[in-house]
Amino acid sequence: MSLPSSYFFFEPTPTTLPLFIERAQGIYLYTKEGKEIIDAASGAVVVNIGQGREEIAAIAQEQIKKLDYIVPVWLSDALAGLVKKLSEWFPTEPYRFYFTAGGAESVEAAFRFAFLYQVAENKPWKNKILSRWTSYHGITLGALSASGNRLRREHLEHCLLDWPKIPPPYCYRCPWTKTYPSCGIACAQALEEVLHSETGNSMAAFIAEPIIGASGGAIVPVEEYWPAIAEICKKHGLLLIVDEVMTGFGRTGKRFAFEHWKLRPDIIVSAKGLSGGYIPMGMLAVREELVQRCEKVAKNFMFFTYTSHPLSCAIAKKVIDILEAENLIDHSMKMGELLGQSLKNELADHPFVGEIRGKGLFWGVEFVKSKITKEPFPPEEGFLNRFLRKALELGVFFYPCQGMADGFSGEAVLVCPPLIVKEEDILKIVAVLKESLNQLV
Ligand code: PMP
Repeated sequence: MSLPSSYFFFEPTPTTLPLFIERAQGIYLYTKEGKEIIDAASGAVVVNIGQGREEIAAIAQEQIKKLDYIVPVWLSDALAGLVKKLSEWFPTEPYRFYFTAGGAESVEAAFRFAFLYQVAENKPWKNKILSRWTSYHGITLGALSASGNRLRREHLEHCLLDWPKIPPPYCYRCPWTKTYPSCGIACAQALEEVLHSETGNSMAAFIAEPIIGASGGAIVPVEEYWPAIAEICKKHGLLLIVDEVMTGFGRTGKRFAFEHWKLRPDIIVSAKGLSGGYIPMGMLAVREELVQRCEKVAKNFMFFTYTSHPLSCAIAKKVIDILEAENLIDHSMKMGELLGQSLKNELADHPFVGEIRGKGLFWGVEFVKSKITKEPFPPEEGFLNRFLRKALELGVFFYPCQGMADGFSGEAVLVCPPLIVKEEDILKIVAVLKESLNQLV
């Protein structure tokens, strides 16, 4: 591999591998040397409809010829088309949409909205965001302040806002060492406890991923968790922000993961699958009723140069059309069941596998040194990196998750292929996962 020395390229860390990818098609990546790799990570859980789509190339070309850029306060056909389509995706009540260039921008926009909303409600002292450890919301300083991912906060703790966090709903390593269901859902009650504390009154919003992604490896909370959280937020006047950057647009077998719990979030943040990786893009959807109240103090609550970019909007609309036309959300649920079952059948007894969990095409496999004590591999053993390399050698890329919980550096992989994945690909992905672990014994 050769790179121009002027490129700002980080040295490979335990979880970044120096690969030069020349092209991609569907779920396959092709290296410069011509090696074919199944992308069981969908990039960074992005390429939901697969790569190399002619229809998207055609739409992009058409849109560029028609209209490249306008200031974000103006309107375009592309924007109108996307808003109309998305409105159909939220049939139960009206939401107002806003588009950005990625996940972190959308999270920042959501925080800014929450603060302005509290000002409009005459509660300007509500100026903090409550979140969870074992979470990731983006690399910008506001989003990172709300993120509990130790690895990504490293060396920057002193620059981040001091916002409180509660432990995650992580039954496999319950922070209270309790057992479900006798635990009383202590992980949800932890929210109530913070809100009763001295700083509780200053919380504007609570943000969390419906299913924990990159920092946890598809940690799915128990049934009662989300309804309890939603109730506590409502009781204490916090906006509930669900971060669907990874889990949105069909990834978990529903349009959005919050639908698994029939929630009514105040704000939904998403990105990645929205444009399927064909263009950088993010969005937020805010309950119309809240926007109208907020507009009393601020009409233009956010302004990025690339807000509602016509090309992004045209591409996202086409991506959603494809999700619908090819029934990819149902397919994700169906293939997800096969993936989950195959992972459990093939790997549940493996000595290095601690837990297998997930929904739809969003599965996590957590690695342990000891199945009995749940002791993780010490980072210096580089187990995750060795696993990733072995799997790549055997032709599959998995998404690495590291530095999961507070004070604990666990290791897991996300198994989350594009939603177009076929049965035979799933079997190959699981077989390679197993073989890679076997070869590391
Ligand atoms: N939220 C979640 C849940 C994410 O997984 C990510 C990215 N992995 C982000 C936010 C940030 O998105 P971006 O990298 O597009 O800024």
